[in-house]
Amino acid sequence: SSVVGIDIGNISSKIGVARARGVDVIANEVSNRSTPSLVSFGQKARALGEAAATAQTSNFKNTVGSLKRLVGRTLQDAEIQEIEKQFINAELVDAKGEVGVKVRLAGEEQVFSATQLMAMYLGKLRDTTSKELGGAGVSDVVLSTPLWFTDAQRRAMLDAAEIAGLNPLRLMNDTTATALGYGITKTDLPDSDNPRNVVFCDIGHSSYQVAVVSFVKGQLTVMGTAADRNFGGRDFDRALLLHFAEEFKGKYKIDVLSSPKATFRLAAGCERLKKVLSANALAPLNVESIMEDIDAASQLKREEFEALIAPLLERVTKPLEAALTQSGLTKDQIHSVEMVGGSSRVPALKERISAWFGKPLSFTSNQDEAVARGCTLACATLSPVFKVRDFTVHDSTPYSIKVTWDKAADVPDEDTELVVFQPNNPIPSTKILTFYRKENFDLQAYYAQPELLPRGINPWLGKFSIKGVSPDAKGDHSIVKVKARLNLHGVLNFESAYTVEEVEKEEEVPVADPQAMETDGENKEAPKTEIRKVKKLQRKGDLSIVSGLVGKDASVLAELKEKEGQLYSSDKLVIDTEDRKNALEETIYDQRSKLDDKYKLFVTAEEKEKYLAALNEQEEWLYTEEGEEATKSAYVERLAALNKIGQPIQFRQKESEERPKAASQLREAL
Ligand code: ATP
Ligand code: MG
Repeated sequence: SSVVGIDIGNISSKIGVARARGVDVIANEVSNRSTPSLVSFGQKARALGEAAATAQTSNFKNTVGSLKRLVGRTLQDAEIQEIEKQFINAELVDAKGEVGVKVRLAGEEQVFSATQLMAMYLGKLRDTTSKELGGAGVSDVVLSTPLWFTDAQRRAMLDAAEIAGLNPLRLMNDTTATALGYGITKTDLPDSDNPRNVVFCDIGHSSYQVAVVSFVKGQLTVMGTAADRNFGGRDFDRALLLHFAEEFKGKYKIDVLSSPKATFRLAAGCERLKKVLSANALAPLNVESIMEDIDAASQLKREEFEALIAPLLERVTKPLEAALTQSGLTKDQIHSVEMVGGSSRVPALKERISAWFGKPLSFTSNQDEAVARGCTLACATLSPVFKVRDFTVHDSTPYSIKVTWDKAADVPDEDTELVVFQPNNPIPSTKILTFYRKENFDLQAYYAQPELLPRGINPWLGKFSIKGVSPDAKGDHSIVKVKARLNLHGVLNFESAYTVEEVEKEEEVPVADPQAMETDGENKEAPKTEIRKVKKLQRKGDLSIVSGLVGKDASVLAELKEKEGQLYSSDKLVIDTEDRKNALEETIYDQRSKLDDKYKLFVTAEEKEKYLAALNEQEEWLYTEEGEEATKSAYVERLAALNKIGQPIQFRQKESEERPKAASQLREAL
């Protein structure tokens, strides 16, 4: 099996593959090392990734991006309505409680949920990877998520991966992946008494994440994190877009924002201009035939750009402060500040971050590929395929989780809730809760600070019913232990529940012997012990847990997987049909031209006439309505019929070509 790590970016994704000599970030079908995070629905089939980017310009309403911003959310979420809607042209609708899109595919209106859209896209990345690996199956994978993803968002990502036939070994926070890539390659990390503290800033297309990470040899620990969920390149592009749209209202008397096509063209121009401004003080903007046949032109100074994004720039230091405070470290304990993400190239951001820390920034990680590399390394450490240097990752969760329950009638002074995981709690981690109960009971899990969550996310994580509880032998309360786990994905589970009982056991225990202490080291006698009775908790019986979660249940997932399989086959049929049609067309032109050239000496007049007639007949058919839209088998059959006539001719020509070669080989052999 292969070892793969994928950075699911909001604008584009990068795929890493582990090979014997290291991690490679691979190129897609058009040789790009990143693949647009887009899904498009066409008249015949879906277009994914690069193909979706191409289709987008003529099919806005049916092309969807911002996939990671949509998964695990509902249509009503305030952030979906107020923020994401601005960046999405397709119609957002409710898809069975999840946000989705209504699009036209193959002439039919269809609704797809965000999880399905993500699954479609992951399927494309899976195929790109498989192709790179020479057709090998791709299953084990580590996928990146923003560190601020909640349980629902993480579960939706896992569901999408499952629908796409992938097996995520870990969902890894973007900044943790970058930190792993940093740590595993450094040979000079300190010993455990003097950790190296590094701040990682990832400023991407849609969000800005900060993590303070401590490194010692062979290990990293995330000490503090913070994020501005809505801060990234797309916000800068939007500020520019609004500025130039306003300018062009006066200058050209056009309302760019009234046309999706014009908006798209201007936005693309703005992004180009923004990138130029990262390296230059002034940048031109040229958008040919933006609308109404007008070629729009303008320019912008870097300081004007910075004025446009001033409200955003004011927010730059807040996540730095928050992450550092949570880590308990001070600025002068920070060894270095590593910058990654495409938008970390914006000078105004670099200046402000550098000024806040009072030190120059580091750019030693690959800004665009660090996350994919880190995910791939994580996959390699989790999979048996490669032997990699041991490197332990202690991640953390930004959100605290509490568990609530109903008071048992006969346990008077019991609390009814407990914060089980504090903010910055390590991931993975397990906590054991103790209850005194005579009968079944329910636990409810909630995020303890809903105000920290993406707006609209339900703070309720799930209900967990503990079943099979009964009084103990004396008719008293049983002691029930419940194991809560934040797993490697950062997802909450109640793993197991069981009863324990107190038993008295005879045990050999060491006794303190003052003399032995004094002569420590020289005392060759065995330590003194005695037999004592001790009270111990002993596991008695297992209980069962019935979970009611926000996520999808297995039968729904199976259905979605089947649906995805159908879409995949029908896309494949469309592509194969097109491919055979092209093959037929090519054969006709190729063979006809060769009849007058290469095949001239190897074909009788009669044969030539017959072959030409057949070729012409097929050509004519191709341009009829039937030939234009035929089935794959129709093209295949016609191609076979032509080959049947052509093959004897091709054979004779080939043979005469080989003969002199064979003769000379024979001469050499003699
Ligand atoms: P996210 O992490 O938010 O999901 P992502 O991982 O897809 O998004 P990146 O690839 O890190 O995002 O960064 C893409 C962003 O960086 C885009 O907005 C792009 O315009 C911006 N960007 C790339 N190069 C430059 C540059 N030279 N100057 C300014 N911005 C740039
Ligand atoms: Mg990113």
